[in-house]
Amino acid sequence: MRKRDSQWPRRKFITTGLQVGGLAVVAASPVNVFGKKPNEITAYTVGQISDMILKETGFKENNDTVDIIKAGNRDMKVNGIVTTMFATIEVIHKAIDLKANLIIVHEPTFYSGRPDERTWTGNSDVIERKLKLLNDNNITVWRAHDSWHTIKPDGITNGVIRKLGWNNYYAGENTFKIPSTSLKQLVKELKQKMDIEHLRIVGDKDDKISKVSLLPGAWGGVKQMTTIINDKPDVLIVGEVSEWETAEYVRDARALGDKISLIILGHAMSEEPGMQWIAEWLQPKLPGLPITHIVSGNPLQWV
Ligand SMILES: [Zn+2]
Repeated sequence: MRKRDSQWPRRKFITTGLQVGGLAVVAASPVNVFGKKPNEITAYTVGQISDMILKETGFKENNDTVDIIKAGNRDMKVNGIVTTMFATIEVIHKAIDLKANLIIVHEPTFYSGRPDERTWTGNSDVIERKLKLLNDNNITVWRAHDSWHTIKPDGITNGVIRKLGWNNYYAGENTFKIPSTSLKQLVKELKQKMDIEHLRIVGDKDDKISKVSLLPGAWGGVKQMTTIINDKPDVLIVGEVSEWETAEYVRDARALGDKISLIILGHAMSEEPGMQWIAEWLQPKLPGLPITHIVSGNPLQWV
């Protein structure tokens, strides 16, 4: 017996796009992205959809890409798509309930970005049971990571910016000039607009902020610290840090008198709006196919 109802966190999924049919979109789009009229399409396969995303994002396939199938196969006919950050067990159950058999994720499914993602631990019955759940329900998981970061502007950052309403504030690839505010007010805005309950900072709540660098996800210490050095923001907003790298750098920089703060949103929540945006971006390209975004949420609890 699965007891997911009691565990299903509140506000944990958002529905976007069409749920059934698609007549409004059909009328607006007589020919779809495959060059076919909707009535010529019997069903899209996983391969057709993933190839289309790679093409439309301008991503050049290479042997190192992580944008590959994690479970299932490319010939499967797709009844419905779920987009999410992580194909958690809860997200998989929700996809089953929605009768959606393609889950498009941004991050790994089996806890490693490696090509041997399913076997890297040697033996793990967590991996085995998760794979069985997917296989028993004929669900394919495909990862849209490299491609969705390749599209211009970056699909993840663009999703976050749309959510924050910062579209007019671009002052560089990852840097924004926002109306002057305090660190405290900025934290409040991020929490409200991105639906984040708790986040972490290095800084003083009264710090004045107008120049912001934004790196959702886990770009690593080198990229995070060189962004501070080169762009000189008042605050760097990230998904996650290795605590011994960027967090210590900002602590020392402040102690030496620099005007720099750090906001850590949490990895999943920091990129989630980008996977909501891929659902909205996909829907007109796949008329009639139900596409639903499900928020996978933060795995960590505060105690
Ligand atoms: Zn990412």
